[in-house]
Amino acid sequence: MSTEVGGAVEAPRAPALSPSRAVDFRRCALLYRFRAVDRLPETPSPGALRGTVVHAVLERLHALEPGARRPEAARALARGVLDELAPDERALLGEEPGVDELLARYFALEDPRTVVSEARELRIEAELEDGTPLRGHLDRLDTTPNGLTVVDYKSGRSPSLRAEGPMMFGVRFYALLLARSRGVVPTLRLLHLADTTSLTLRPRADELERFAGVLRAVWAAIRRAAPTGDFRPDPGPGCAFCAFKPLCPAWDGTPPAYPGWPGDTVTPLPRPRAGEPG
Ligand code: SF4
Repeated sequence: MSTEVGGAVEAPRAPALSPSRAVDFRRCALLYRFRAVDRLPETPSPGALRGTVVHAVLERLHALEPGARRPEAARALARGVLDELAPDERALLGEEPGVDELLARYFALEDPRTVVSEARELRIEAELEDGTPLRGHLDRLDTTPNGLTVVDYKSGRSPSLRAEGPMMFGVRFYALLLARSRGVVPTLRLLHLADTTSLTLRPRADELERFAGVLRAVWAAIRRAAPTGDFRPDPGPGCAFCAFKPLCPAWDGTPPAYPGWPGDTVTPLPRPRAGEPG
């Protein structure tokens, strides 16, 4: 089964594996719970917010007629997107949000007037054979003479060798989503705007099959933890950047009560009887 949704207002949906949530779970099960089950709010970093603005500008730019996709149009769209930000978000970006510079680097990477895109900001869902639900959000899906190309904008720099793992995880995830929903293995283009670098690759079909096995195992582990909320903390260097540290038992915090897996009936754990250890 697969579905595609583009540009629609999203209703609350059952959890599914997305590249970022799968990476979260592999890094720390409790981090996954806070984001995917509790859906606790997080204040974005200035860099993440800048990336969101640039993504919105590029989405609008590619909605224009090809001939109109010029740098001055992008700068005008950027002013519009910045004006739409809430005052606290605008303050987070500061006086010089750096958006125009990232857009200039984008134009150094490709000429958007030559791009033929089938969709922008496209949500794709698919299921693996065992029911593992996958969900991804494509920045752009291009049609080229060589087939479909998934384009992913990255507002940061291209990763170091050490940080390549999560990026490759996302690349394989998007390729698998397209392979399962469209029956084709797409080409993937990553546009790293901060250092004006692009990376083009096409995973092999056998590589994707092995990767599907990894995702099945991740989802099975999530579903095992889901009924009771047994998502355990896994402290490591990433804790320094975790917004939920004050709620984390690994750092003397107390998590909120487990809200239950969305859509499941929560069976309360039996209360200990008098005289039994709690
Ligand atoms: S602080 Fe560390 S261990 Fe705790 S939830 Fe965050 S990443 Fe996990």
